[in-house]
Amino acid sequence: MDGVKRKSARTQAQQAERTRRARLSQVHYISFRMANNGITSHRPASQGLYERACQLFPGGVNSPVRAFKAVGGTPVFLHSGQGARVQDVDGNTYLDFLGSWGPLIFGHADPDIIAAIVAAASSGTSFGAPTPREIDLAERIRLAMPTLEKLRFVSSGTEATMSALRVARGFTKRSKIIKIDGGYHGHADTLLAAAGSGALTLGIPGSAGVTAAAVADTIVVPFNDLDAMEAAFEAEANRDQIAALIVEPIPGNMGLVLPRPAYLPKLRALCDHHKTLLIFDEVISGFRVGRGGAQQLFGVRPDLTCLGKVIGGGLPLGVYGGRADVMGVVAPEGPVYQAGTLSGNPLAVAAGIATLKKLDDAAFRTLDSLGGMLEDGLGRVIRRSGIKARVQRVGSMFTLFFTDTEVTDLASAKQADTTRFGRFFHAMLDRGFYLPPAQLEAAFISLAHTPDDIESFVVAAKEVFPTL
Ligand SMILES: *Cc1c(COP(=O)(O)O)cnc(C)c1O
Repeated sequence: MDGVKRKSARTQAQQAERTRRARLSQVHYISFRMANNGITSHRPASQGLYERACQLFPGGVNSPVRAFKAVGGTPVFLHSGQGARVQDVDGNTYLDFLGSWGPLIFGHADPDIIAAIVAAASSGTSFGAPTPREIDLAERIRLAMPTLEKLRFVSSGTEATMSALRVARGFTKRSKIIKIDGGYHGHADTLLAAAGSGALTLGIPGSAGVTAAAVADTIVVPFNDLDAMEAAFEAEANRDQIAALIVEPIPGNMGLVLPRPAYLPKLRALCDHHKTLLIFDEVISGFRVGRGGAQQLFGVRPDLTCLGKVIGGGLPLGVYGGRADVMGVVAPEGPVYQAGTLSGNPLAVAAGIATLKKLDDAAFRTLDSLGGMLEDGLGRVIRRSGIKARVQRVGSMFTLFFTDTEVTDLASAKQADTTRFGRFFHAMLDRGFYLPPAQLEAAFISLAHTPDDIESFVVAAKEVFPTL
C-alpha cells in the first residue's frame, strides 16, 4: 500500500517536473526565436559567401556533405560557436546538433580544451620529434580501451583506417578485405566501395577516380547479415585470402544503426576461424558511446581499432592501434611503412588530453540522459503526428529516420523518405536548430546541451511535424 502511494507520489512529481520543463522550454524556445527575428531563412551574408566560395572550391565547400545537396538549398556559413550554440554570418543563432560531425562532445570553445590548446601553442606548434604529451594521451587511451596495446597517432580518421588496413595486409600477408555496405571509413581508395556518408548521400557509390584495381580486393557485405558474411568468408575465391574485416561496430554513416545482439561476437568468431583480423572503426563511436567505445559496450575485442573525432577534441587527430604483435609490423619496428609530418601534433594531442581528462562516467550518464529525453520527446511527437518516422539512438548519437520500419542495414536505411527529411531539416534550421544536412547521418548531443535545450528541440519538432 505504502509502496504504491510512494510510487504514485513520485510519478506525480515526475509529471509536474515534465510540465514545468515543457513550459520553461516553450518560453526558452519563443525567446530564442525572437532573438533570431523569428524565422531565419533569409541569410543574405551566407548566400554572398557561398557565391564567392563557389568560385574557389568545388561545390563551394571543403567536404562534400557541407554543401546541403542532400537537403536542398545552400549552406549556412558559421563564424563562431559557444557551448551548444553556433552563430552564422547573418547574426542568427542555432542550437547545434551537428557537433562538427562528432568531435565536439563538450560543445564549442570549451574553456578547458581551449586553455590546453593555447598553452600547447605558446610552446611550439610542431617539432617532428617525440614529445611527452603523446605518451600521456596514449596511456589515457589504452587505459580506457585496453585492446590498443600499441598505437600510432595520425591526423585524420581516413589516415587511421587506411593505415590499419595496410598493417593488416602486412601482418597476414593476405590481400582481400571485407567492408560493410554503407560503412564509411574515410576516403582512401580501397574503402570507397559502397561507402556511406557523403559518398552515399550524393549517390556516388563507386566513386570516379577509384580504379577497378584499387577495389578489386574489397568485398562488400550488408550489415547485420551473418549468412552473407559467412558466405563471403567461405567463397572459394576468398579462402585464406582475407586479411581483415573492417566494420563500424555501431554504424553511424548510413544514419545510426545498431548491431543485432549476436552480430559482433559472431564476426569475432568468424575472424578467429579464418585467421582474419577484425578491425573496429570506432572513429565515431570511440569515446562517444562510452569510455571504452562500442567494443566495451558489446564486450567484443577487435584486433585493431581506429579512432578519430572525439579524441582530437576538435583538432585533427586520428589513432590506429591494437594487438602488440600486429602493431609490431609498423615501421621502424617492422616493414610496414606509415609516417606523418604532423602526426601526434602537440595542439591536437593537448586537446585530446583535455577532452579525455573530463570525459568520465558521470559525463556519459549525463549524455545518455539527454539522449533519452530527446528520444522520448521525439517519440511522442512522432506518435501524435501519425507520420512514419522513428528515432534510433545510442547515448548521445541519434538519427531521426523518416520510415517506420527498423533500420538495420543500408537497404532499410534507403527506405527513409529523404525528401521529407529535407523539409524537416529546413523547417528546424529556420527555427534555429542545426542538424546534419542529410537523412543518412547521425546527429550529436554534447555536454554543453541542457535539458531545456533538448525540450526546446522537441517543442520545435512538434510545431514542424504537422507541416511535413
Ligand atoms: C568520420 C569517419 C571517418 C573519417 O574520418 P576523417 O577524420 O573525416 O578522415 C572514418 N570512419 C568513420 C566511422 C567515420 O565516421
